[in-house]
Amino acid sequence: MAKPLTASTHPDRKKSDLILVAGAGGFIGGSLVRYFHDQGFTNIRGVDKKPLPLWYQTTPGAENLCLDLSDPESCRRVVEGASEVYNLAADMGGMGFIEKFRVECLRSILINTHLIEASYQAGVERFLFASSACVYNTDLQKDPKVRALKESDAYPAMSERGYGWEKLLSEMFCQEYAAERGMKTFIPRFHNVYGPNGTWDGGREKAPAALSRKVIAAVDTGKLHINIWGDGLQTRSFMFIDDCTKGIDMIAHCDDLIATPINLGTSELISVNDLVSMIEKIAGVTLERSYDLSAPRGVAGRNSDNTFIQSMLGWEPDTPLREGMEKTYIWIKQQYMDRKSGKPTPAGEY
Ligand code: NAD
Repeated sequence: MAKPLTASTHPDRKKSDLILVAGAGGFIGGSLVRYFHDQGFTNIRGVDKKPLPLWYQTTPGAENLCLDLSDPESCRRVVEGASEVYNLAADMGGMGFIEKFRVECLRSILINTHLIEASYQAGVERFLFASSACVYNTDLQKDPKVRALKESDAYPAMSERGYGWEKLLSEMFCQEYAAERGMKTFIPRFHNVYGPNGTWDGGREKAPAALSRKVIAAVDTGKLHINIWGDGLQTRSFMFIDDCTKGIDMIAHCDDLIATPINLGTSELISVNDLVSMIEKIAGVTLERSYDLSAPRGVAGRNSDNTFIQSMLGWEPDTPLREGMEKTYIWIKQQYMDRKSGKPTPAGEY
């Protein structure tokens, strides 16, 4: 199989072409700006509605704009001159957020709706929408020993309420802009992404960050106890951020994937209990566990079937969970200590 193209190797792309990243103040968007910068791209525009001091990271040389992209006029402004648009902007968070704030999640539909239209009008060459494994039929995810989800499992549709339905409908926008208007749209379905420079506190954090923070706090305070949401038996797969940015780049430059939803996640399934044990080992501690059975827990199990991405790209996310979690734990510990000593830590304030 030929090596998949990327922004750096694609014959149509110059290093000076304008790349727009929506949601650049967030975890994946901020990491994607840095990724393209590290690949040598010199004209990157990041946009987010959060004020700049709350962006999780900024990259030297990138343009940073604070605008609300649910507004069509803002969308028209930011896509001007862009060759590629990556839509990673959404009101989202872990289970605690998406089960409680379904209206906010649904309203993210405005961002993609206006951004894709503005991109089409502006002649953007490639448009990527960050979809999610939450589009998959929830009836297929009732057993922790879930069979891995393949792309066709989204239909018949019974997505996660709120967040999942917004993603599914935005996917359809991407598919119809391709079918009716010939736009090159790309639709990776991310399975839980984790890593440094993401949300680790404040209510929007996901399990790897939340559990790391709880272990760090237990060690710091000497209260050797951890409270776990649900019964701990729920299973997930977790993708390290570096795999996510690399996968986004390859998917967005593969013309065989135009308007085609594709899993971007690992197939290394782990229960929440085993994830806690892994973090305990990294921290060198054993904690007493209690379980909050009334807390949001999401579906019982979810895993990514990577047959399709392997067949299209000859690759799948492959950072071992233990390796990625060590890096994440170290970063969150630093944030925790910084905050304790009074330094600003945007990733925990938002
Ligand atoms: P994030 O919350 O860290 O980043 C999203 C960013 O979008 C935030 O900085 C937020 O301020 C910004 N935003 C929200 N509304 C906006 C608006 N109206 N205008 C401009 N900016 C706005 O989330 P993330 O983890 O980086 O996720 C990025 C994308 O990937 C999202 O679409 C998310 O749904 C999707 N996704 C993420 C995961 C994951 O595990 N992190 C899994 C599946 C899908």
